[in-house]
Amino acid sequence: MDTPVPEISVVIPVYNEEPSLRELHERLTAVMGGLGRPYELVFVNDGSRDGSLALLKELRRGDPRVRVASLMRNFGQSPALYAGFSLARGRFLVMLDADLQVYPEDIPLLLEQLEAGADCVSGRRTGRRDPFFRRLFSRALNRYIAYETGVPLTDYGCPLKGFRREVVGHMLAFDHRCRYLPVDMTAVTTNIVEIPVRHAERKAGRSKYELADLVRTAVDLITNISVRPLRMIGLLGILLALGGFFMFLRVLYFRVVYGNQLGAESVIALFFLLCGVQLLSLGTLCEYVGRIYAETQKKPYFIIRGEEE
Ligand code: UDP
Ligand code: MG
Repeated sequence: MDTPVPEISVVIPVYNEEPSLRELHERLTAVMGGLGRPYELVFVNDGSRDGSLALLKELRRGDPRVRVASLMRNFGQSPALYAGFSLARGRFLVMLDADLQVYPEDIPLLLEQLEAGADCVSGRRTGRRDPFFRRLFSRALNRYIAYETGVPLTDYGCPLKGFRREVVGHMLAFDHRCRYLPVDMTAVTTNIVEIPVRHAERKAGRSKYELADLVRTAVDLITNISVRPLRMIGLLGILLALGGFFMFLRVLYFRVVYGNQLGAESVIALFFLLCGVQLLSLGTLCEYVGRIYAETQKKPYFIIRGEEE
């Protein structure tokens, strides 16, 4: 390669983002060029079905700092990022979404923190432009992750993050299949700084995440970082058993004192309640069993088809 070894690598997962890529490249080039340090832009094409790959190749032909790697198929945002990390050569690694919802112009703020000694820098999206239910959802999840990991970030999901190379090296070495990048990050270091960054509406294309994906992600995440839900089943069991005991006493009391029977409705209600609780408990257990199953399969987290010459 004729370019100098990059000091900074920007890794960008790309799944059907053709309309944004040209502007993204222009803005990244302006910002990174302004730093006056060697850099590379590692685009990871995550099985796009639109013209993203052709456009990325074209960008690469005009700019040797652009690297384009393709995955074998669509693996998802997080695997695409890890694939990009595995190829990146910089001392500092920055991750960024392709859809321009976060600003490439904020990258220097991340680098400042890394130079000042942080292991990781994570953005906190100010004035977040996402649908209301998504923001509410995020807030609850953020609280939960902060509580479980003991790292008090308020916007774990922010797609603008910076890392020291060593940190990413350790994150890549993890061997589990079910993973969540921001949680991996806290497993490696707690020297993480959160800084405010700007956030914009998605300009083109649409979010790859539907409501069902968000629920899936939340369940994955919760069962990923803790076994608390399993413990809660036990707790629920104790509470229900106690409740049942007192109800039984009440039934007995009514029968002895008034010769009264409880109506059929209450029995049916109780039946539904208990069935619901049992299935919920079983479902929770299955989440963990499913996770163990996924881990034993040892499927690769991502497969790189190759990198453009
Ligand atoms: N992405 C990806 N693979 C996927 C889904 C998304 O590489 O299967 C990329 C996508 O191109 C974008 C980033 O991940 O660069 C975030 O996706 P999106 O904007 O849809 O997520 P949101 O902003 O709604 O969280
Ligand atoms: Mg987006």
